[in-house]
This record gives sequence, C-alpha cells and structure tokens, in this order.
Amino acid sequence: MAALDDRHADIREGVRALCADFPASYFREIDERRAYPEAFVAALTRAGWLAALIPQEYGGSGLGLAEASVVMEEINRCGGNAGACHGQMYNMGTLLRHGSAEQKREYLPRIASGELRLQSMAVTEPTAGTDTTSIATFAARKGDRYVVNGQKVWISRVQHSDLMVLLARTTPLAESRKKSEGMSIFLVDLREAIGNGLEVRPIANMVNHETNELFIENLEIPAKNLIGEEGQGFRYILDGLNAERAIIAAECIGDGYWFIEKVAKYAGERTVFGRPIGQNQGVQFPIAEAYIELEAANLMRFRACELFDAGRPCGAEANMAKHLAAKASWQAAEACLQFHGGFGFAAEYDVERKFRETRLYQVAPISTNLILAYVAEHILGLPRSF
Ligand SMILES: Cc1cc2nc3c(=O)[nH]c(=O)nc-3n(C[C@H](O)[C@H](O)[C@H](O)COP(=O)(O)OP(=O)(O)OC[C@H]3O[C@@H](n4cnc5c(N)ncnc54)[C@H](O)[C@@H]3O)c2cc1C
Repeated sequence: MAALDDRHADIREGVRALCADFPASYFREIDERRAYPEAFVAALTRAGWLAALIPQEYGGSGLGLAEASVVMEEINRCGGNAGACHGQMYNMGTLLRHGSAEQKREYLPRIASGELRLQSMAVTEPTAGTDTTSIATFAARKGDRYVVNGQKVWISRVQHSDLMVLLARTTPLAESRKKSEGMSIFLVDLREAIGNGLEVRPIANMVNHETNELFIENLEIPAKNLIGEEGQGFRYILDGLNAERAIIAAECIGDGYWFIEKVAKYAGERTVFGRPIGQNQGVQFPIAEAYIELEAANLMRFRACELFDAGRPCGAEANMAKHLAAKASWQAAEACLQFHGGFGFAAEYDVERKFRETRLYQVAPISTNLILAYVAEHILGLPRSF
C-alpha cells in the first residue's frame, strides 16, 4: 500500500530504520510488563526525532508539523506506540510560543538534546473533567514564589519526565472577568517537586500508558517559572492544541495502516472452507471500508498540517483530522480483530494490544463529543450548549 504523500519518504525511511530495532514484539513485551519503552524513547531522542518541532536556533531540527506528524505515524505504523513519548514533541510548544527569551534559552536546547524531558502537561482534574475552566487547582503568589494546592488526574508520563506544564487558577473563577481568564501555566521541575508538595499515584489502566493522579499540597514554584502573562494560561494551552490534535491524528493513521496491512495479509492467507477468508465479500468489505475512511482522514490530517505550517488558522481542520483519524483507526482495529478470529485475542499477534492503544484516542486528549460540539458551535454557528 503506497502512502498518499511521498514527500516525506526520507523521514519515513529514517524512522522505520530506527523502529526495526524496536519491533512489535518489543512493545508487546513492554506492554506485558506494564513497563516504559525506555530504550526506544532514548534511541528516538538520540536520533533527534523528538526535537523535530524545536527551531534550529535552540538545537532542534526546525521541521514543520507535517514532518513531525510523519515521525509519530511511522512509529505506530511499525507496530509501536508513540503515545509513550508524544508529549515530548508538542508540550514544548507552549514554552516556544509564550515563554520568555530567558526561559527558552534555559530549557529548549536541553529539551532538544534530550537532557531534559518535558513529557507531561497537567490540565485534567477529577471534578472539572472536560469543563477545564472550572478547575480548582489554585496557585497563590507569595513573594517570589507561587504556592499551589489542588488535584489533577490522568496526567501522563510524569514518572518519565523532568518537567511538567501545569495549568492552575491564579484568580478564583467567581472573580474572573471571563471564565476562560484567571488561569496560568507554570513549568514545574518534577525532580524538585515530587516529594515536596507533589504526590504522584499511578493509575492502572487498559492501555500501557503511564498516567497518574497528582495530589498537590503547598507545592512551591518559583515565580520565574510562570509562562507568559498571569491569567492567560488557558488561551496559551488552547494555542497548542492544534499541533497536538494533528500529531495524534497521525498516530491514529499509523495505527490504521498497521491494522489494514495486518488483516489484509492474514485474510489473504487464512484458509477456511477451502478458500482464503479474504475471498469472501463479507470479509473484504469492512476492510475496504476502513481503508477508505483512513485515506480520507489522512487527507484531512495533511490539510491541518499544511495550514498550521503556513501559520494559518487550523482549529477546524486539526479537530476534524483527529476525529476522522481516531474513528478510522478504530474501524480498522475492529476489522483486524474480527477477521483474525480467535487469534485476534492472542497477545502474540499484537492486534489486541494495538486495539486497546488506538481506542484511547476517542476519549483523550479530547473526547469525540467535544470535537463535535466545537464544529457545531464554532464552525456551523449553532447555539452553545455549554
Ligand atoms: C490514558 C489517558 C491519558 C491522559 N493523559 C492526560 C494528560 O497527560 N494530561 C491531562 O491533562 N489529561 C489527560 N487525560 C485526560 C483526558 O484528556 C480526559 O479523560 C478527557 O478529556 C475526558 O475528560 P473526563 O475523563 O474528565 O471525562 P468527562 O468530562 O467526565 O466526560 C465523560 C464523557 O461525557 C462526555 N461529555 C461531557 N460533557 C459533555 C457535553 N457537554 N456534551 C456531550 N458530551 C459530553 C465526554 O465527551 C465524555 O465522553 C488522559 C486520559 C486518559 C484516559
């Protein structure tokens, strides 16, 4: 199956060569142990792929979002799971766009080299859920520090990161002019914070995704770690979401191709009733349909990246790409599992693992319904429901 877009052949080849040392069996074994793919992440970092979006002046490769997304697509297409490290690629965007010159000089080169990992972004809270503006975690200014109290949930890769972007209220909701104001973002040095006001409790979950509850009690953050202007943090976070959406879309596209290639091969070889199962149209059609959906999603993903890289608004396209790609990869996953019959459930085929991994993307980092609400209200002008 040829990729629609071969402008990125060099990147695809480079990432595939690296992934050859970390085949699906590597990720399967890591999944079984619920471990972290440390050797893979280290190799990817050393090769410079995770610094794709960091400008060259800070030691990154200064590539566009299209190229960065191809890196993540290829990891998943090779049978791996880019979710273990995708935060390192896009979380630094907040710092890049809104950090001071000093903050950028201090952190970006070390993030680019891999000396520092900025893998985590703490937004979600147990009571606020999707309604981010009602978060309760509060950072109170005390001289040259902020003192933070609150709770976060589902915060990923904290145990494998040095830094974390934290969203907290700095003005109570009731005193804010608009509900989207009065929140700020901070760069938290996890090496200092854990055990000193920050408690991390891992959440066992369906995917091998290192994710945690955070309990924050009198955590002190130096005021110089505030990113941008106090009170504008929500806007800064939103700014970064388009890149995140497009990269996650690309991961789903990679998953989708993996499922389709896997099931097409299997259905061509598995013989039942004296013929390959793939000769039956009842088997062919769901696979063909998933492939069609995937190709369409891929077009939207490159459209979103093209707009982003041209510095043009791409909120609609990035959200739609994520939505289409997450649905298409799930459709491909369904067909792949179904037509592997019982073997789809056997860990050694990797289908059940990838099935679990790709399912996540209809809930996180944004759920399907919230994308539909965005399109309905912001694109189609329908009345706001919340
Ligand atoms: C493995 C994993 C990793 C994650 N990593 C991170 C991370 O690193 N950082 C971080 O900040 N968060 C992270 N999250 C959190 C994730 O972004 C949220 O789970 C997600 O945004 C949904 O929020 P919620 O779980 O609170 O669901 P809720 O807000 O409780 O919503 C539950 C369901 O109701 C639907 N719903 C809610 N309101 C409406 C409405 N008005 N209209 C229609 N439907 C609605 C939602 O779409 C959803 O399906 C992670 C989650 C998971 C599972």
